[in-house]
Order: sequence, then C-alpha cells, then structure tokens
Amino acid sequence: RDSVAASETVSTTPRRAERPAPATLVAGQPFVNAPDTDPAVESARAWAHVVVSPETAARLAASVPEATVLAVPADVDSVVARAAEVAGTWRATTGAQRREVLLTAARLLEEARTDLVGTMVHEARKTVGEADPEVSEAVDFAAFYAESAAQLDEVPGATFTPEGLTVVTPPWNFPVAIPLGSVLGPLAAGSPVIIKPSHVTPRCAAVGVDAIRRALVEHGYEADLVQLVSADEGEVGRRLVTHPEVSRVVLTGSIETAELFAGWRPDLHVFAETSGKNTLVVTAAADIDLAVKDIVRSAFGHAGQKCSAASLLVLVGAVGRSARLHRQLVDAVRSLAVGPATELATTTGPLTVEPGEKLHRALTTLDEGERWVVEPREVPGTDHLWTPGVKAGVQPGSWFHLTEVFGPVLGIVRVDTLDEALEVQNAVSFGLTGGIHSLDEAEIAHWLENVQVGNAYINRHITGAIVQRQPFGGWKASVVGPGAKAGGPSYVAQFGDWSDDASVP
Ligand code: GLU
Repeated sequence: RDSVAASETVSTTPRRAERPAPATLVAGQPFVNAPDTDPAVESARAWAHVVVSPETAARLAASVPEATVLAVPADVDSVVARAAEVAGTWRATTGAQRREVLLTAARLLEEARTDLVGTMVHEARKTVGEADPEVSEAVDFAAFYAESAAQLDEVPGATFTPEGLTVVTPPWNFPVAIPLGSVLGPLAAGSPVIIKPSHVTPRCAAVGVDAIRRALVEHGYEADLVQLVSADEGEVGRRLVTHPEVSRVVLTGSIETAELFAGWRPDLHVFAETSGKNTLVVTAAADIDLAVKDIVRSAFGHAGQKCSAASLLVLVGAVGRSARLHRQLVDAVRSLAVGPATELATTTGPLTVEPGEKLHRALTTLDEGERWVVEPREVPGTDHLWTPGVKAGVQPGSWFHLTEVFGPVLGIVRVDTLDEALEVQNAVSFGLTGGIHSLDEAEIAHWLENVQVGNAYINRHITGAIVQRQPFGGWKASVVGPGAKAGGPSYVAQFGDWSDDASVP
C-alpha cells in the first residue's frame, strides 16, 4: 500500500548527497506542515544588569575545551555590548558569505561528533543511540541554514535586512541540536547571538558553540558573534531577556516560561516552541508489528523526555481488544534495556533530572479507571533510573489525558471510532506532534484533515523530525510567535526585516 511505502521513505534518513534541493519538501511524503506565518518585527526596549555567578564560571571553565571562549565571568551588559560591537561586520555580509561560515560550522560540528556524543552521555545522561543522531541533526541544521542564508539574497523584488540581537534559551532534553539550531538560524540571518544554555547541560552547548565560533574565526569574523552565558540563576536569564538591546528570544521550553518572558516584557519578540501532549492513534487497520515498534520508540526514546514524545496511545475499535497488540506491546516495553547511559546497549537511560511533581505523579499514581499494564519502578540505588510504565484505562478529560508529564509513562485510551480518537487527540491545549497507524487510506485522509498538530506522522514514530524533510514545530499552545518551523524553509527568513513588498520565501 502507498502509505506503507511512503512511511518507509520517511523512516530512513537519506545520505546527504541524496537529499533534495534546499527548501524543497519531498513530494508525497506523509508529513504535513502547519502553515508558517510571516514574522512581525517589533522594536525592543527594556533594562538590564547582573553578574554571572563565579561558581558557574569556574565549573564551565574547568569542563569546556580550551578553545571555547565563554562570556563568564562577565556581566550581562558587557556581553550585550560586545555583541553590539561586533554586529556591524556580520550584518554587512551577504547571505552567500554567511553560507560559507555555516558550511564550515557543519564540518566542525561533524568533526566534534565524538566530543558532543560523550558530553551528552555524561552531562545529559542521553544514550549513545539517541545522542549520535542528535549530532547529525545539529550538523544538518548548519548545512540547511547555510543554504537558507544564501537564498535570502535571491528573493525577487524583496530585500532582506539582518536585524536585532538574538538571545537563545534552549532546554536540556536536546542539549546539542536545539541550542545549536537556535543559534545557527538567527546567525544565518545576520544576527549576533547570545546563548544561555540550560544550567543542566551547559557543556553540551559549549562544545557546539565552540565549533561555531571557530567557523566564524576561520572566515575572518569575530568569534564573539556567538557568545555563551551560563548561569544557574534565573535572574541572569531575566536580565538578558529584558535587556533593551535584545530584540528577540528564541525559546524552547515550557509554555509557562514563554508566558513569563512575555510578562517581563510585553514588547519582546518571543519565538518559542513550547510543550506537547502527543497522541499516537492506532486503528484496526494498522500493521501491528510496525505500530508496536513505533509506539515504544515514540514513548520511551530518551526516557520520554521529548516535547515530541508519545504520551497517549489511542486504540480505535477492535484493536483496543487485540490480545496480540497488548502482548506485543507489553513484551516490547519489558524488553527495553534499562540502564546507565554510558552502557552502549542501553535503550532507556536515567532521567536527566529528578522527576518534577507532574512526572512523579504520573509514575506513581493511578486515577479512576486506570490500571498498570506495565508498572514503572525506580531502580534502587540509581540516580533517577526508572523502568518505563504503561497505564491502561486513561479516561478522556482526566488529568493524564490533558497534562504533559515529560517522562517514561504511556497512557492508553480506548475509543470506538476514529472521530472519537480525534476528539481525544485534539482536546489537549497543545498541538505539537501526533501520529496514526493505519493502512486504510480513507482513515488516514480523514485523520489528516482533522488532526490539530504541527507535525503529523503516518505509520512512523512521532519523534525525530528530520531537518528539511520534516521541519519541526507546533500549533495551538505548542507555539508562540511567528512559528516558522525549525529545519524548515522559512526558519532563517523570519529573523530579519523584509522590505514592504516582500513575501517571506
Ligand atoms: N525535534 C525533536 C523531535 O522531533 C523534539 C524536540 C523537543 O523535544 O523539543 O523529536
């Protein structure tokens, strides 16, 4: 069937040489873009001042490669002043010139692969199997945004002007790809960037930032076009985000953080990918073997600590009573190799951080109607290593149905019809990823027509978007700001000013 053939196409990352021309999505691939919107550029104003903590400075200085120059210890004003000082030459470049720098960054990031993987394993407790493709994603961001930069020069009848100083505040769950992608996008658009990595994973970001800085220097530009500020204190972030010279913030984090930023400074241009509560729908027309493989991967990759992770499995009609599906799912979940991230064989590593209140509740509590199909357990004597859990009987409208828990728990909901499945799926405030497993083309078409997610996947796992082929971004409460997708054709173009007659490519 077509849908199956297509799913195979999407599941396999092609070698780079085989990739289609930049900004071209693969025809016929079962992936749907939510519409990108044009950026509105607003002026910025606010205030600032603070000192980065000496403890953080010392920790980073001890752990990052020598070549990495960190903006620590320093105060936020001087970091911002330095960005303003070096911005001019970069803004004067053409997109084609910036392309060369980003291509060099792609090469240097590839060369840093071992360091990046090692740092992720140790600092983020990410398995090698998850960390290695994350480096590929960062490399792909650099190579793809390089082409996007060059395209900025070539939009007929429109002129792109680099604008603004960008602050990047990334999360710890993709501690390389998201920080670096968020830096490379605005950098490709001609903006200087200040990144404040998550205090949980500063070194992962620093190793990657180092490669980008070396690329700048290799082409004769100032390394300080990208500066890294690391601090444990939220206050440093607040001073950065509210600094009058900063015109935009690229955030990947919770909706609460996006709201906090907006509250601090209503005029700030926030580009945010926020949270998700994602559903995989499996119908009676699904290929069960394929579905089980993709459910497990979507729910428990990186111990479920992905905005894109499957948190709900909605079984439609007869498949909800399928003994085969249940047996295979339970077997597959129980056979996951739960262990330290440093073991190559581990498929489910420890949580990166101690479970917060929501995740703890999801891991330890059953609400009305729920029962454990596979009960999660904290492995004694470990630092937050949990075996994955699956709970059945999740009720539409319940706490688990509607709450993002960000960890290794999957809830099963049973419904009678695909429309009911869509109701469950669309009832959440977020709209990040979602998937369907079905070999029935009418079902697929109906689902696609009605599902409210940024990234819709058919007969495929719902995590692991691929740069250029499956740009990544949300809908509804999963996105704040212009919403151009990361790894997509409009991402770089949103970080600047277009002349009035322009249409963003
Ligand atoms: N881009 C990642 C994916 O497609 C998810 C990023 C996130 O968790 O924020 O799985």
